Amino acid sequence: MAIEVKTEIILEGIKSLIEFCGDDPARDGLQETPYRVLRAFQEYTAGNREDPKKHLQKTFQVDHQELVLVKDIEFHSLCEHHFAPFFGVAHIGYIPQEKITGLSKIARMVEGYARRFQVQERLTAQLADAMEDVLEPAGTMVVVEAKHMCMCGRGIRKTNASTTTSSVRGIFANHSDARAEFLSLLK
Ligand SMILES: [Zn+2]
Repeated sequence: MAIEVKTEIILEGIKSLIEFCGDDPARDGLQETPYRVLRAFQEYTAGNREDPKKHLQKTFQVDHQELVLVKDIEFHSLCEHHFAPFFGVAHIGYIPQEKITGLSKIARMVEGYARRFQVQERLTAQLADAMEDVLEPAGTMVVVEAKHMCMCGRGIRKTNASTTTSSVRGIFANHSDARAEFLSLLK
């Protein structure tokens, strides 16, 4: 199917959704909305059109074999069950063996996995797996804290609820003191 044809179908679908919600897609404020929604969704899912691991591939040799912790990496994602935003911060720690990567590269990698239809649990695991695959560290630990609009705006309406998930690999999986060091640096 040609992309223009598909776009037409999608725009018609968004108009139908507006009608389904009880509003008039032809009224002033909503006329351009289907185009804006289409463009917004392209942006929300930009991570599907890249391999986020590639950001980590520029590595440096170092002799540092202690914990490297990158805190408070902001991200915005979209819950795959409701297409509702969830957003928050990721904290990523790893103990390098030979390779380290730039801090901004880690943030870009997070962005690449966040910008897709996601669930927080999978996002957390993908971040840990990407670090393991590319940097081959002694271990990786990832903690993600997020608020989910699908919990705030609908259903049970818990405005302040936040969800924390973690993934541990390598030394962090086997050593509680490594996890404790990570968590003490988070505070
Ligand atoms: Zn949801």
